[in-house]
Order: sequence, then structure tokens, then C-alpha cells
Amino acid sequence: MSFKDLKLIKPIQKAIEASGYVEPTLVQQKAIPLVLNGKDVIVSAQTGTGKTAAFALPILQKLYDKQDAPKKGKKIRALIISPTRELAVQIHQNFKTYAQYTNLRSLVVFGGASIEPQIDTLKKGVDILVATPGRLLDLHKQDYVNLDYVETFVLDEADLMLDMGFLDDVKKVERLCPEEKQTLLFSATIPSKIEELANTILNNPERVDVTPTKSVAKAVTQVLYYVPKRNKIELCLHLLRNNIKGNILIFRRTKYGVDKLEQTLLKNGYSVNSIHGDKAQSERQTALNKFKNGYVKVLIATDVAARGIDINELDNVFNFDMPNVPETYVHRIGRTGRAGNIGKAYSMCSADEKSYVKKIQESLNISIPIESEHPYPLDPKAKPIVHKKKGSKYKKGRKSTASKKKKKRWY
Ligand code: AMP
Repeated sequence: MSFKDLKLIKPIQKAIEASGYVEPTLVQQKAIPLVLNGKDVIVSAQTGTGKTAAFALPILQKLYDKQDAPKKGKKIRALIISPTRELAVQIHQNFKTYAQYTNLRSLVVFGGASIEPQIDTLKKGVDILVATPGRLLDLHKQDYVNLDYVETFVLDEADLMLDMGFLDDVKKVERLCPEEKQTLLFSATIPSKIEELANTILNNPERVDVTPTKSVAKAVTQVLYYVPKRNKIELCLHLLRNNIKGNILIFRRTKYGVDKLEQTLLKNGYSVNSIHGDKAQSERQTALNKFKNGYVKVLIATDVAARGIDINELDNVFNFDMPNVPETYVHRIGRTGRAGNIGKAYSMCSADEKSYVKKIQESLNISIPIESEHPYPLDPKAKPIVHKKKGSKYKKGRKSTASKKKKKRWY
């Protein structure tokens, strides 16, 4: 199927060509005709499948078709809510790209950033609003947002909304929109609570299911290292120096863990940045942009901060902590190996995380190849490849690992 078969109008076709897309992805093939037909749709798809364009393109087309309508540019006619700020920004960037040959106006609003510029733009009028739920409700309460004219309501990453405790806010937002509207729900997984939500807010929805959630992209080479918890940092440094080529997104379970690892890598001379929920929005965005533009090769993130983020040409994903939920493993490693590229996923498992690996392997029906040839094996009987020299590695006064290995560094 080609984009032509989807009967998209010229300005949108032109933007698609400018984006370099040759053919629609599966989720686009399935969802775009339904959205253009005005159906409510539940889409089960992971990020990386092209799901943003699957709703953005038909929404833009529908708004453009009615471009002579008196409401144009004055009223919010499409509302997209997203659980995280980064994702909201990314969705908005996509809208801007796809709308570049139309005169439709869009805006993104999110918390943790100054509200004034958002209010100023809202006052001028926008056709499309992308928002995180909290800031949206705030702006509505202050009367800067009128949702009475919303024709299409999109709930993106619904399962993450649920995980982050936004479900009540989502319901509130939905009730602020007109009853008569098109609703699209996107979710990587459809747990029963999301099913319930869909039953209450969607009207006779069509279903699109493109990726079995529990499947790992074939383009990702996985490797697992069993390592004592106390040696994880050393192994991480060892792999960064010797094995890992290209950029890398490192996942840690906690914000504290992210900060700690960032400090260690900085001390060892790496160019590194991090994102997590406690960071100011501007910091998170700067970190992400630097990483996306290649100025920083290592980004450390918590799951929530990284979920849904699309980074072109991400070479490596690194599970510093094993995720305890199989779906999270799929999401994390699905950040790489996209759009025809080959990616690599490294995972470190300590003794207390063995049950997580077991659960991941059983649930996903995979066997993650184990790399036992490394200096810090978990099994103490296993012969270490590199013996820690007495008084060398981690004692005061020794030459820093970074300076020692300077010549070998890949950035
Ligand atoms: P998403 O799942 O929306 O996060 O999209 C993942 C990536 O796929 C983004 O970088 C999009 O720009 C890209 N993309 C979306 N649609 C297509 C397409 N039809 N062909 C190639 N790349 C696409």
C-alpha cells in the first residue's frame, strides 16, 4: 500500500515526502482510513510503529478539509493528551512537520514550564492542542482553554496515563469536551482498566492491533550480563570503553539511580545527560535535544521519562537495572532497532534480579543470550577475565579510569 492509496490531500502528501516516508507503516495503513471515516478507534501499538502519524495525518486532513469553517484557527478542534512532557513535545513537533504546508495552527502545553507564553498563544487561537493533563486542567480552570469545539480527542499512551495516576484527570478532560466527538485511544498494552475506560469514553470503537505487545523487535540484538550488584558500575564502564559503539540510552529504575550513575560517568570523563521526573522541564528538553542531535552520546533515564520518546538512530539501549515487568523490557529495548536500523540491547542482571529475567523470558518466550566473558561474573567460581589488581582499581590516588583509557574512548 502507498500513501496515495490512503487518499491524503496534497499538502499532507507533500509533508510526508519531505519527511522521507516512502510507504505507510502498518498502523498507518489500518488506522488512517478509520480516522478519516470518523470512527472511534482503539489502537494497540508500541511507539516506533509510526502511530503518531497514524492519528496526526488524518486529523490534519479533516481539519484542513473544513478550512473555510469560521472556527478555523480560533477554536481548539483537535485535542491530544499525552502523559509526559517529552512525548507531548514530540507529538507537537510531528504535527508541525506534517502541517507545514497547511495553515493549521498547533500548540503544546505542559507543566513545569512557564504558563504565560502558553496563554499568549492560546489567546491567539489554535486548531490543535497537545497537552499533558495537569497543565490542561489548570489552563481550563483559569478560562484560557475552551474545549467546547473539540471534534477529535486523542488519548495517547493510555496505559502510561494509568500507571502515572492520570486516569481521573483524563476522564475530567474528556467530560470537558463535547459529547459528540471522535475519540482515539492509543496504548501499548490494553489492561482491563484501559478496556473499562474505552468502554466509557469511546463510541462503538474499531480496533487496530498492530504489534503484539509482548514481542521484541527482531532488529535488536540482545545480550545479558550476570553481575554482582556492587560491580554494575564497573561493568558498565568496561562495556562503554570496550564494547559499545555509538550512542546509548541507559535505563535505571529510580531517579536517585539515574543521578548517581550520571555523576559516576561524568567523573570518568563521559559526555552524559539525564532525564527524570524531578528535573525541570527545560533541563529535560535540553538533555533530550543534545542527545538527539548527537552532542551527548549517553543519556540516562527512568522509564517514565523515556517512554514514547523517539530518537532517530539510537544505537544501544542499556538496562542498568533489570525491569521487573516484561512489557517494560519490550518498551525499553524497542527504543533501538527502529526504521530498518540494527540496534543492540545490553542488560545487567544481579542476583536479586534473576527472577525478573526469568519472568521476561517466560512471558516473551525468548531466551536472552548470556555473555559470560566479562570481568565481573556473578558466579564467584567463574574465572574472571580481568583480575582486580591489589590496590589498583578503586582506591584513592589511582589514575582515573577515564584518563587511563583516554586513547580507547569512542567519544
Ligand atoms: P512513532 O511511533 O509515532 O513514535 O514514530 C516512530 C518514527 O517513525 C518517527 O521517527 C517517525 O518520524 C517515523 N515514521 C512515521 N511514519 C513513517 C513512515 N511511514 N515511514 C518511515 N518512517 C516513519
